[in-house]
Amino acid sequence: MTSMRAIALEKASGRPVLKDDHPEPVLHAPDQLLIRVLQVGICGTDRAIVRGEGGEPPPGDGYLVLGHEMLGEVVSAGNAAAADYEPGDLVVCTVRRSCGQPECPTCAHGESDMCYTGKYVERGIFHAHGYMTSRIVESTEYTVKLPEELRPFGVLMEPTTVVEKAILESVLVQHRLDWVRSLDDSSAIARDWRFVRRALVAGAGPIGMMAAFLLRHHDVETHVTDVVPEDGYKASLVNSIGARYWNVSKTPAAEIPSQVGNIDLIVEATGIAPVAYELLNALGVNGVLVFTGVPGDRGGEFQLQGGHLMRQQVLWNQIVMGSVNANRSYFVQAVKDLSEISRKWPDALARVITGHHPLEDYEVALTTQPKDEVKAVFDIPDV
Ligand SMILES: [Zn+2]
Ligand SMILES: [Zn+2]
Repeated sequence: MTSMRAIALEKASGRPVLKDDHPEPVLHAPDQLLIRVLQVGICGTDRAIVRGEGGEPPPGDGYLVLGHEMLGEVVSAGNAAAADYEPGDLVVCTVRRSCGQPECPTCAHGESDMCYTGKYVERGIFHAHGYMTSRIVESTEYTVKLPEELRPFGVLMEPTTVVEKAILESVLVQHRLDWVRSLDDSSAIARDWRFVRRALVAGAGPIGMMAAFLLRHHDVETHVTDVVPEDGYKASLVNSIGARYWNVSKTPAAEIPSQVGNIDLIVEATGIAPVAYELLNALGVNGVLVFTGVPGDRGGEFQLQGGHLMRQQVLWNQIVMGSVNANRSYFVQAVKDLSEISRKWPDALARVITGHHPLEDYEVALTTQPKDEVKAVFDIPDV
C-alpha cells in the first residue's frame, strides 16, 4: 500500500500534524472515483477543530485528516462512474454523507444537509477523513464535475454552496408572498431572486464575500458590513463588484436601512451571536434573516430589547432562520453561478483567494489568520 502525506489533527495530542503514512485509497465500488486533490481551502471550521472545538476522527483512527473545501482531478473511475467521468476531469466533492437511517426522509432524498437524525458524517470534520492529502476516493453521488474554466476558482465552490443554500432557502420562504409567486409561473420560480430587492451581508470573510458575489450576480443591491477599514483590501474587493461596504464600527448596521431603504434579506456570516441578533434591528418588512456562522456553544451572552424586536418581528412578518452545509443540488447550482461570475468578474474573483500555502505551512496556516485574508488555500502535491 502506498503512503501519502496528509494534514491531520492527532487525537492523542490534540495537535495538527503533517503525516507521511496516510494510506492511499483504492477504488472498491463501481460508482467511485479516485481523485487527485489539487487545492483545499482553509476555513474557520478547520481552525476551530485545531483549537479543540469539534472534529472527530473516523471510529478507530487516531487522527482526522482535515479539510472539506476541495478541488480535484479524476485519476480513474469505477465501471459505473466511467460513464460520466474520465481522467483529468475537474471535480469537487461535497462534505456531508447521509445518515442512512430508515427514519430519515431528508437523507433518503439526497438532502443530508437537512438530516433529522444527526447520525451523518462529514469529511474532514466528523467521523470521516477530509481532503488535505494527495488522493481521495469518493462516490459520484457526492461529486460534481466542473468546467475547465473554473480551475483557478474551483476551491471556492464549497463556501459558495453554503450561501447558495442560505439564499435559495430564503427565496423559497419568500414564495409565501403572492407578488413573488406571480413573478413567474414556471418551475424556474424556485430560482427567482427578484424578491430580494436589497440585501445586507454581515461579515466580509469567505462566506460573506461569496454571498456578495452571488447577490450582485443576480443584480441585487448589496450592502456588506464588517469592522475593517473602508480603504482596506476587503472593502475595495466588495466595492469592485458593485456592492457597498460599510464599516459598522462607524455606522451601526441598525442605521443602514434609514439611509438605503427596506432590507429584504440579511445573510449573517460573522458567527458572532451578539452581532448576529443585532441584525434584527436592520431587517426590513417581510424580511428574512439567515444565520450561516457557527459560534462556539458557550459564551456569547448579550441583551436584546426583546419587546421591541418581538413586536417588530410580528408586525413586519419577519423570519429568522439558520442554514448549514449544502447538498449536491446546491453544488450543481454553484457550478453554474461560479462559472458565470468568473466570466463577469475574473479579477475580483481571483482576489478572493488571498494566500497559497505548501503543506509544510500547516501549523501557521491553521493557527493564525492574516488581517486581509479572505480565503487561503493549501496547494497539494501528488503522491
Ligand atoms: Zn468551510
Ligand atoms: Zn439523515
